[in-house]
Amino acid sequence: MVSGRIFDIQRFSIHDGPGIRTTVFLKGCPLRCLWCGNPESIPSGTSLSYVPDRCIACGACLRVCPEQALLLPAGEKVRLDRHRCMRCGECADQCDSKALEAVGRDATVGDVMTVVLRDKQYYKASGGGMTLSGGEPLFQPRFAEAVLRAAKAREVHCCVETSGYALWGAVRHLVPLVDLWLFDFKETNPRLHEQFMGKSNKLILDTLRQLHDAGARIALRCPMIPQHNARQEHLDGIVSLLRRLPRIESVELLPYYDLWRGKLNRFGLTSTFPESVKPPSHATMQAWNEYLRKQGVPVAG
Ligand code: SF4
Ligand code: SF4
Repeated sequence: MVSGRIFDIQRFSIHDGPGIRTTVFLKGCPLRCLWCGNPESIPSGTSLSYVPDRCIACGACLRVCPEQALLLPAGEKVRLDRHRCMRCGECADQCDSKALEAVGRDATVGDVMTVVLRDKQYYKASGGGMTLSGGEPLFQPRFAEAVLRAAKAREVHCCVETSGYALWGAVRHLVPLVDLWLFDFKETNPRLHEQFMGKSNKLILDTLRQLHDAGARIALRCPMIPQHNARQEHLDGIVSLLRRLPRIESVELLPYYDLWRGKLNRFGLTSTFPESVKPPSHATMQAWNEYLRKQGVPVAG
């Protein structure tokens, strides 16, 4: 059976498509968005989370670490040497207090469907279903396709949340299986896209156009990041995109949140993204939405 790497399955999601949904988060992403809200989702392999406040200094993790990456000085909490750690996850299996947690595990299509089908009655009542998210779900195209096929066979409504950074050869098989694409569009300017996301937006725009031309249902989702893409030029870029691709059903502007910063220490990561960037106010979001509406853009909500 096809298997893939996931890092979470969230039941009762209400922000990942219509109705009540189960969101399956696939690990791995080809982009490097400076403001990524789930930085632990970027590597394809396992990530190790360590929260020292939860450590009860039991020493169980030290006994299993094959790399001697853990130290427990007398009277202190565990110290993790990330340079030595190979992210095997052995220590996390021993840590009952969840100070150490392995993020990312292999799952079969059956494993995923067992969880997804638990809430089928809620999907029916609310118009919900399953959403594949990430990371970037199209980064594991065979696994994504197999999960979508299994869900469709059980008449589960399917959404895919994607950046669109994938070759059409991998995406086109998914078109008949996806009821609604939640397509993240982050930056109009190709040079700035490369600067902010680490890759040009050419492939993304190609995927979007091909999905549109193939008759896919598309809801565009645009994160608005002050001092970065929250600019008039980008808003006008969204307007122009909608004129070229008029069957895009809706556009939703998403405010930047800075809660991800708390994850940096947990995963031993660093970020060059300026701390001075703060979420836009409600009034600012409203003004941007109003501007798009006046240009004839079908703003969601
Ligand atoms: S197993 Fe967990 S709680 Fe025990 S010493 Fe290791 S990190 Fe601390
Ligand atoms: S993930 Fe593996 S190598 Fe890293 S600290 Fe834990 S046991 Fe050691």
